Amino acid sequence: MKLDLLAFGAHPDDVELTCAGTIIRLGAQGYKTGVVALTQGELGTRGAPEIRKQEFEAAGKILGLSIHKMLDIPDGQVAVTEENKLEVIRVIREYRPNIVIAPYWHDRHPDHGHASNLVREAAFFSGLKQIETGQQAYRPYRVIYYPGRVEFKPSFIVDVSDFHEQKIRAIQAYKSQFHNPEKASFGKEETNISSPEFLEAVISRARQYGSYIGVKYGEPFLVREPMRLDDPVSFFGPQYLTAFL
Ligand SMILES: [Zn+2]
Repeated sequence: MKLDLLAFGAHPDDVELTCAGTIIRLGAQGYKTGVVALTQGELGTRGAPEIRKQEFEAAGKILGLSIHKMLDIPDGQVAVTEENKLEVIRVIREYRPNIVIAPYWHDRHPDHGHASNLVREAAFFSGLKQIETGQQAYRPYRVIYYPGRVEFKPSFIVDVSDFHEQKIRAIQAYKSQFHNPEKASFGKEETNISSPEFLEAVISRARQYGSYIGVKYGEPFLVREPMRLDDPVSFFGPQYLTAFL
């Protein structure tokens, strides 16, 4: 299957927490979207692997994805190795996405930084036919990045206001990980991400980025390379004329 957009996360819930609104929005516009987690998140403090798998599937349904899968790179060991690069190249060549979304390379969690470099390198090398995987060579048009703990000055912000509630539902599908009223039944210790404040922070951040473009909720992205824009007059239309700019 050919995808328009393929987002990678180091762990099963990374994409939901960061750029799910954009993925839901693009799916609603008719694009074929996919999410691939590089690991199965087995180092997580809360939630047994079987539960986390069910949660991953439930979240994927809410995101409206065409493809949703987990690879088997060990959690905590995401690294830019030949083996891992080939694994990601196989995925890119199979789904041939126009756009790849990856985590920002600066992050507190080492897996996120490595995932960023791994996906960027794989997206490049996927275009070289001398790298043999038994598939046709294919290079996505562009890799764009979403922030984790460390922020950046965004290249652009997507208005996700109409899809924010759906995004929160996708996050809450990870019942064992994040705050919910039944959490006591999991009998596991509290972690940073299981506190009510964590979800509040995710929402506040979307609100903050929304305010930068004059909408309620927004998601920021970074593009490493300059973007070609031949007609700035038509691009910067009336949608840029807001009280916030
Ligand atoms: Zn993660």
